[in-house]
Amino acid sequence: MTLSLDGAPDIREQACSCCGATFIVTDHFILMDGHTHAIAKTALHDHNGDHEAWIDVIFGQFGDDSAEGRVTFGCRVGPIAGATEPAATVVDAARPYPDSPVWGHKFSREEALQQDSLAQFWDVVDWLLSTDPTVHRHVYRTGLR
Ligand SMILES: [Zn+2]
Repeated sequence: MTLSLDGAPDIREQACSCCGATFIVTDHFILMDGHTHAIAKTALHDHNGDHEAWIDVIFGQFGDDSAEGRVTFGCRVGPIAGATEPAATVVDAARPYPDSPVWGHKFSREEALQQDSLAQFWDVVDWLLSTDPTVHRHVYRTGLR
């Protein structure tokens, strides 16, 4: 299984709805073995010095207007109490975003933890954290080696 990018990631700045701070949102269009696989939307926040990445990943049908079969998983990656390394935690998917067919069904945390496809979600998250320079630098405060 090989993940790759379908084109350069889209990167833009937005104002945070909770504190007004500027943060970065980046969209990745992801292929697996050359076929359309997922779309990841990553918000890079800096709340009280905590560098967090909120990553939502959409799986399902792409390329037409139908959202049939689409599902979205969400997680937060960032500092947690008692850990030296940033950790990933499943959260309710795409919570800050308005409902839209783009997301298909947004899994709650409880739903997500029961999905066999949760492993596919972690594969995409791990891949983003280890290959995307913007996401990596934000979470780990150091460049890719
Ligand atoms: Zn905020």
